Amino acid sequence: MTITSLPKYFHYLSSPQALEAAKMQGSTLIWPFGACEQHGPHLPLATDNIFAEKLASAVLERLDKSLPIWMLPSQVIGFSPEHASFPGTISLSASLVISLVLEVGEQLASLGISRLVLFNAHGGQIGLLETAARELRAKSPEMAVLPCFIWRGVSEINGLLPLDEKNHDLHAGMAETSLMLSMSPELVGEERPIDGNYFSGSSKPQTPKGWSLEGDSPCSWLTKDVSISGVIGDSSKANKSLGDSIQNALIAHWESLLGDLMASEWPVIRD
Ligand SMILES: [Zn+2]
Repeated sequence: MTITSLPKYFHYLSSPQALEAAKMQGSTLIWPFGACEQHGPHLPLATDNIFAEKLASAVLERLDKSLPIWMLPSQVIGFSPEHASFPGTISLSASLVISLVLEVGEQLASLGISRLVLFNAHGGQIGLLETAARELRAKSPEMAVLPCFIWRGVSEINGLLPLDEKNHDLHAGMAETSLMLSMSPELVGEERPIDGNYFSGSSKPQTPKGWSLEGDSPCSWLTKDVSISGVIGDSSKANKSLGDSIQNALIAHWESLLGDLMASEWPVIRD
C-alpha cells in the first residue's frame, strides 16, 4: 500500500506516514475554513463549514488518487463579528485567526509540506485570511499558501442566478439555501425570509447611493444594519435543483483549479 492510497485526511495518517507525505514532491494540504455564525432562522450555524468540508471531500474524491494531497481538520469557528448580535454566533478575534494560521502553518512548513490551501467558505474572512496567508508565506517562504474563497471565480454560477441575486445575495439567501438543500436537506428549516439591502421585504435602511455592502465601495456592514431575520438575500427562491447545479459547478471549478495546482511547480523558490 502506498501513502497516497490511504484516506485523504492528514490527521488519519500515522506520524511516520505524515512525515513521508510531507516529504513528497508537491505535498499539499487543504484546510477547510468555515464559521459558527447565524444563517437566518432556517440554516445551521455551521453552514459555511459544511460547504467547505463537503466540497473539499468531493474534490479529493475526484482527483487522481496518486496525488500527494490531503485534508486537514476543518476550522469550524472563524471571524464573524458582523453576526455577533445574533444568538449562536461564536467568533474569534482577527488577531487570533492570524496567529492560528501562522502557528499551524509554520509547523506544517517545518514538517516539509510544500503547499497549504486555505479553503474558505465564509465571505467575512476573505481579507483576513489573505493577510494571514501573506504573512505566513513571508515567514515560511518554502511553503506556498493559497487563500481562496469557494464562491469566488466560479463563473458557471453567474449563469445560474438572476442578476439581482448575483450581486446582492450575500448571506443565507437563494444561493446558500439552495446549496444546503442539495448537500444536507435535513438541516434546512421551513422559513424562507426575504431580507437585506436591496430586497423588498426589508424594512431596514439601505446603503448610501454609490455604496454597496461588498464590491468596489464596501461598507463594512453589520448584519443588523440591513437585516432583521439575519438573511441578506431572497431565500424564498431557493430550490434543490438550483443547489445541485451550484454544487456541480463548485466541484468542477475546484477540481480543475486544484488539479492545475498539483500539476504545477509552484512555489518557485528563488534566493
Ligand atoms: Zn454563509
